[in-house]
Amino acid sequence: MGFADLHVHSVYSWDGTATISAILNYAVTKTRLNVIAITDHDEITGALHAEKIAPRYGIEVIPGSEVSTAEGHLLALFIREKVPAGLSLIETVRYVEQLGGLCIAAHPMANGSSSLSGEAIRQALKYPDVARTLVGIEAINAGLFHQDSNFLATALARSLPVAQVANSDSHILETIGFGMTEFEGTTAADLRRALESRQTRTVVHHRATPSLVVPAWLRSFLLKKAGWVQWTPHPRQPMRLGRAGLVI
Ligand SMILES: [Zn+2]
Ligand SMILES: [Zn+2]
Repeated sequence: MGFADLHVHSVYSWDGTATISAILNYAVTKTRLNVIAITDHDEITGALHAEKIAPRYGIEVIPGSEVSTAEGHLLALFIREKVPAGLSLIETVRYVEQLGGLCIAAHPMANGSSSLSGEAIRQALKYPDVARTLVGIEAINAGLFHQDSNFLATALARSLPVAQVANSDSHILETIGFGMTEFEGTTAADLRRALESRQTRTVVHHRATPSLVVPAWLRSFLLKKAGWVQWTPHPRQPMRLGRAGLVI
């Protein structure tokens, strides 16, 4: 069995605070994850860099993006090009299909952030080509702000022919792997097969709490604003502080 966290933000997201090297180092040394997807807001640069350096760390990276569709956030996975923001859900899924990727609805029906409605997902899945690419729903988002809607998202995922996925939606290192998707096998290719055949399982390893997330995020966010980030020059070296922009 393998474990994946398919929703992780890096410093390439305006609200992300972890460098790519720190994310990979943390995932390998502190979690059970075999596969991790970097999904920055409407961005792909960090994810592509992560995919390139991942072999040094001994973990597989799926390049992705959290795309701001006109109807809410959508995870696009297995892509190597940026997906434009602002298209409709159906247009975005078809765009991702052209890139050879898969889509997962991020934190559906969540209040307080741009989230897809259950109805939008249901309607989109009526198109066979869309249903081939929009393969999953984030039944569990272990992030701080979406936990209230997880029961709705889980019920929605159970009522539809989709893979159920659990992710951390991490914006700090410390929450990576809080939500995990379990699948047969251990590689990104195995995970893709499991998503396409709707045979994934959700695992909640830990729930984010304000006392854990808020101080850690504020500290790292303010450091980043001041031009400093945590990084590691080598997979087996400890984390150190460096100038943001020069290190990753
Ligand atoms: Zn989101
Ligand atoms: Zn997110």
